[in-house]
Amino acid sequence: MQSRITPREKNYNQWYLDVIQQAELADYAPVKGCMVIRPNGYALWESNQRILDDMFKETGHVNAYFPLLIPESFMKKEAEHVEGFAPECAVVTHGGGSKLEEPLYIRPTSETIIWSMYKKWISSHRDLPLLINQWANVLRWEMRTRLFLRTTEFLWQEGHTAHATEEEAEEETLKMLEVYRRLAEEYLALPVLVGLKSEREKFAGAERTYCIEAMMQDHRALQAGTSHNLGQNFAKAFDVTFQDEQGQRQLVWATSWGVSTRLIGAVIMAHSDDRGLVLPPRVASLKAVVVPIPGKKIDPAEINREARKIAEEIGLGRSVQVDDRPNLSPGFKYHHWEQRGIPVRIELGPRDLENKQAVVVRRDTGEKIFVPRTELKAKVNETLDIMQKSLFDKARAMRDEFTFEVDDREAFISKLDDPGGFLLSHWCGSSKCEEKIQNETKATIRCIPLDAAEESGKCPFCGGASERRVVFSKAY
Ligand SMILES: [Zn+2]
Repeated sequence: MQSRITPREKNYNQWYLDVIQQAELADYAPVKGCMVIRPNGYALWESNQRILDDMFKETGHVNAYFPLLIPESFMKKEAEHVEGFAPECAVVTHGGGSKLEEPLYIRPTSETIIWSMYKKWISSHRDLPLLINQWANVLRWEMRTRLFLRTTEFLWQEGHTAHATEEEAEEETLKMLEVYRRLAEEYLALPVLVGLKSEREKFAGAERTYCIEAMMQDHRALQAGTSHNLGQNFAKAFDVTFQDEQGQRQLVWATSWGVSTRLIGAVIMAHSDDRGLVLPPRVASLKAVVVPIPGKKIDPAEINREARKIAEEIGLGRSVQVDDRPNLSPGFKYHHWEQRGIPVRIELGPRDLENKQAVVVRRDTGEKIFVPRTELKAKVNETLDIMQKSLFDKARAMRDEFTFEVDDREAFISKLDDPGGFLLSHWCGSSKCEEKIQNETKATIRCIPLDAAEESGKCPFCGGASERRVVFSKAY
């Protein structure tokens, strides 16, 4: 079967787009930079939503919905925030056929509109903490876009919480970072570094931004989620105070945190191969496909019936499908489901029927095993578990292989160029130096790992003193 997928070795960027197209995950929209998420791609987003939403609820959060349009005056209330976001905002100036008195921003994120409401809802310590999440779309005018990874409009969730103390806000920020780490590692099979962003890379309006960072197969970094401690910046901007137990007025402490449809891009890039999409079983909505193989001596209706029985026996409910489309060869069907990343294929031919067995094929390795019908359910579930773990282990082994300690400028530049990866390097702590490094090498500080050991050294670019290594990489 001729593959329509460009090999990774030949052109990694084209490979990524080909995988998306062949798996029917997304398509280009009429407006440049926008994306249509097709049903296969949306199913992946729904898996992420379900997993995260459960974890949000378990940690005491509730969902609400705030408007898409934000008055310009709100955007301007927090200086750093407006400076960071205004250049990439779309602004509505006309409505109902006439010019609006005040322009309305299409939300790039919702801190301002939400804190304008929190002013109404918070007055006493009894109103705190306020733990709200919103599932929404946001819009940031992007010049260079790439399906899922960077699109002008994207889907995400944004949590916005309000607390009585700084400690509680910090605890919340880290708690949600841990929720994101679990989503990435336990479900998406993406090993992530957990760390703090530098001043230059932090969210506009935050005191501190924490993040999870993953490595893609071309050894570039991808930021997969962020959690911000906003301090009292938005409470000050919107005058949100509460009366504490002693009757004193206090400013409220805030956090916000989000992950977006970018995660889907990360999953595609991290695990897929030259044959197409590879999905971690825990987020694949379709986990197995049964392909009946008709033979000359057997009634097709009989083998199809057996295939459906097998689908029922496996007990995966809607997560298993039978491909009994007539007039298509088994080879065509294998290829079809491989491109779509279905974790397990079950083949059933006349001889298998005779021997009371089926053939189980793993998407990631292509490994085939013959399994007696009586053991099929257990074996399929076991295969899904093994594959989930194996994808994670493989991704972690790659990350370890392409993580380097570098101590001088020459090593920094040469490793970054070839083979690329995560560079553990000292850094003086200056934003200016960081900017210079980026201009010179295209690498940015991905994070200051939370578990970074204290170690004194010198910034390889300016010679300034450093107390720990940070992670530099080229990033998406
Ligand atoms: Zn420096």
